[in-house]
Amino acid sequence: MFVTKALKPKRRTVMAVSGVVLLLWAGTTGVPRIVAQANKAAAPKELPMRPKLVVMLVVDQMRGDYVDKFRVQWTGGLKRLVEEGAWFPDAAYPYAATETCVGHTTISTGALPAMHGMVSNAWWDREQQKGVTCTSDPNVKNTGYAGASVKGGDSAWRMLMTAFAEELKFQGSGGTRVVTFSLKARAAIMMAGHQADAVTWFDPAVGAWTTSSAYPMAGFVEEYAKTHPVSRDYGKTWTPLLPSSAYWYGETATGAVPPAGFGPSFPHPLRGKPDSTGADATFYSQWQTSPYAETYLAQMAEDAVDKLGLGKSAGTDYLGVSFSSVDYVGHAFGPRSWEVQDELARLDRDLASLFAHLDKVVGRANYVVALSADHGVAPIPEDLQKTGADAGWLNVEEVKQRIEKALDGLSYAKPAVAEVGGGDVYFTPGTYEKLKTDAAAMHAVIEAIESVPGVAGVYRAEELEGRPATENPIRRAEAASFLKSRSGDLMIVPKPYWPWDFSTVGRPRQYGATHGTPYYYDQRVPVLFMGFGIRPGVYHGTITPADIAPTLASLCGITLAPRDGRVLGEALAKTDERRTARKSSAPGSAESTKP
Ligand SMILES: [Zn+2]
Repeated sequence: MFVTKALKPKRRTVMAVSGVVLLLWAGTTGVPRIVAQANKAAAPKELPMRPKLVVMLVVDQMRGDYVDKFRVQWTGGLKRLVEEGAWFPDAAYPYAATETCVGHTTISTGALPAMHGMVSNAWWDREQQKGVTCTSDPNVKNTGYAGASVKGGDSAWRMLMTAFAEELKFQGSGGTRVVTFSLKARAAIMMAGHQADAVTWFDPAVGAWTTSSAYPMAGFVEEYAKTHPVSRDYGKTWTPLLPSSAYWYGETATGAVPPAGFGPSFPHPLRGKPDSTGADATFYSQWQTSPYAETYLAQMAEDAVDKLGLGKSAGTDYLGVSFSSVDYVGHAFGPRSWEVQDELARLDRDLASLFAHLDKVVGRANYVVALSADHGVAPIPEDLQKTGADAGWLNVEEVKQRIEKALDGLSYAKPAVAEVGGGDVYFTPGTYEKLKTDAAAMHAVIEAIESVPGVAGVYRAEELEGRPATENPIRRAEAASFLKSRSGDLMIVPKPYWPWDFSTVGRPRQYGATHGTPYYYDQRVPVLFMGFGIRPGVYHGTITPADIAPTLASLCGITLAPRDGRVLGEALAKTDERRTARKSSAPGSAESTKP
C-alpha cells in the first residue's frame, strides 16, 4: 500500500493516555468495582466516536478512469472527494456480472453475488419458467407519490444477505433512520435492504416518484413530490456547462444511439414526442438521460436531511443516493462523449451543494461519505474499430438460434433453450441434465456457441459452482457471480470489446454502449471516502467495492456476516485524529462552513 498523501499523526490527548494507565492498573488488580471506575474515568464525553450520518453515493456506470481523466473539469463535490478524501484508484469488481443490481448489492452488503444472490439485473426462474427481475416481488404492490398510479411490485425479498443499513439499524443503539433515493428501483432498494424508513425511485412511464408496500410511504417524499413536479423541467434544453475546449474527444461520439428526441450532439431539448405540448413518457425518458435528474435527486436528499433531521438522532443515520443518469447517458452516447463528461461536471456541482449543506447542518467531521459505482462500461465497438482493434457486438439471439440448430436431428425436445440472458444460457426442463450424459451433443452445443462472433469461451455450471480455486481470473470472476439456483446452465465468456447485443438479429440496437462482462473496463470503478474517521490520501492497492460495507461497519462499530470484503484500515484515522477533527468542526463552525 503506497500512500501519497496523509494526515500528520497527532499527539494523543492526555485523557486517552491517562485512560490507558487506569485501565492497566485496574486490569491487574482484578477488582470489578475499580475497573468500572477506571472505565468511567477513561471515557471522554463524546464517546462512542461514531459518525452521526453515513452517506452512500453510487454513480451508475462511472468507470474508474473518469476520475483520472475528467477531474480537471471538476470544481465541486467530486473534486472535494478526491482531494480531501481517501481515493482508491485501483478498485474493481472481482466478478463477471457487472450490472446495476449486482453492484449495488455488493456495495451495500459487502458480499459477492455468489453469496448475496443478486446474480444479475434479471434471471430465468426455473420453477416458474419465466424471467424475473432482481426486485420483482409478487407479494408487494408499488405505490406512487403525489397520487400517481404505478404498476408492479418491487422489494429486496430476493436479496439473500442483509444490507449494511439494515445491520446498522439492528445492531445500533437505536434511532437509526434509513433513507434511499434513485431513479432505479434496483438501486434504491438494494442500497437500503429489506426494511427501511423511505425507499424512493422513479417510474418513467408516468413520471412518478414511487415506493412499494414493502416500505412505508414517507410524508416528506409525498410533500416534495407534490411541490416539485418533475414536469417543471419540461421544455428545458441541455447545453454544455463548460467551454468547448474543456472536453475530451469529439463533439459527436461515434456509434452513439441517443434517446428519442435527442440528436447525436448538443444541444438536447427535453420536449418529449415531436407533437407534445407537455410532459409525456418520452420527456421522462429524456429527463432521466439528462443532468436535471441528478440535480433533482441531490436536492431531494438535502430535503430528507432537513425534514428528518438526519445526523441528529442518537444513532447513526443512513442516506443512500444512486445517481442513475450517468448510466442512461453512457448507454446512449458512450464513454468517449461530451455528454458523459458534462453529466459528471454537473453532478460535481450538485454534490458540492449537498456536502455544503451537510457541513452546515450535520458538521463536516460528523458524517462519512462513501462514493462508488455499480459497474463501468465498454467502449462503443464502432468507435474502437476505428483503431483497427478487434471489437464488435455479441448477439444474444444468435447464440440461441445456433444452439437450437446444433441440436437439430438429435433427440432433444424443442425448444431446447428457455432463455439466453447475456452470459447465462438456461435450457428447458430436463435438457441440460440430458446434455451432461451426452458428450457428443454437449460438444455440439458448445461448439455452436463458440462459433458466434465475439464468443471467447463457455463454462459449464459444474465448473463454477462452489467458487473453485483457480489461477484463471476470468473463471474466478465467473464463479464469483455464480449461484446455481439462479445462474445459467452454461456461462458464455465474451471476447474483450465484444459487449452483449440483446436486439433481434437484423434490428437496430437501443443503446450505443453497454457493460456486463468480466473485463476491467466493466469492473473498474472509483472508491472514495471522505469525512468522519477517514484518513485522506491516494491508496494504490487492489481493492473491491465489497470492501465498502465492512469499512463503514468498522467506523460504526458493527459486524457484518460476509467475508468477501475487508476493512480498508489503511484509510481509517486513529481515534484521537477523529476526536480532533470532530472538535474543530461542529455544525455551523467556521471550519465546517468553509467552501
Ligand atoms: Zn447500465
